[in-house]
Amino acid sequence: MSRRIGVMGGTFDPIHNGHLVAASEVQHRFDLDEVVFVPTGQPWQKTGRTVTRAEDRYLMTVIATASNPVFSVSRVDIDRGGETYTVDTLRDLHREYPGDELFFITGADALEQILTWHNVDELFTYAHFIGVTRPGYRLNDHHLPTGKVSLVEVTAMAISSTACRERVEREEPIWYLIPDGVVRYIDKRGLYRKD
Ligand code: ATP
Ligand code: MG
Repeated sequence: MSRRIGVMGGTFDPIHNGHLVAASEVQHRFDLDEVVFVPTGQPWQKTGRTVTRAEDRYLMTVIATASNPVFSVSRVDIDRGGETYTVDTLRDLHREYPGDELFFITGADALEQILTWHNVDELFTYAHFIGVTRPGYRLNDHHLPTGKVSLVEVTAMAISSTACRERVEREEPIWYLIPDGVVRYIDKRGLYRKD
């Protein structure tokens, strides 16, 4: 039997409750059998800053998702290494889940970038795309190909990884923005501190 697999890519530096709420909501609405979180490979840098090493981002994603029986984490992008392109992610997962239906879950900001920069026709051979609302970003559907992209309103969680990193740097609490185990891991490894 063909299964319905959600794919949630991200830098996850760190993963936060906005990611988890969006994935959970889409899992429910689209009746997905599983949602696979895929932390990106190690890019040289992302908008001018150094991204935390892949193994730390991978472990934080595992800690955040471990208690949910329908959430899992894939290493495909990390093991491929370098900059991550969505088409490579989907090609690899398509191979790993043969015969299953893939649903790529992405926030409004990321969806816009993916559809501008990628060979959209090839992307759509691998997956259906689900764009979720994200506070501060408007979902603009006027140039979306019909049938291959669904837009979904999810409960707005005004959280970003950037804001969480800045809070750690300023020694402000991140409890309840990020799962407890991940908060402890960040503290244990001294991630995002100024020095
Ligand atoms: P950064 O601030 O470092 O860019 P981020 O919070 O945007 O981090 P990413 O790892 O870049 O997190 O995002 C992974 C995916 O999750 C993207 O598709 C993004 O649009 C989506 N996303 C991020 N935050 C939210 C949120 N609060 N609500 C819904 N979707 C989100
Ligand atoms: Mg982002």
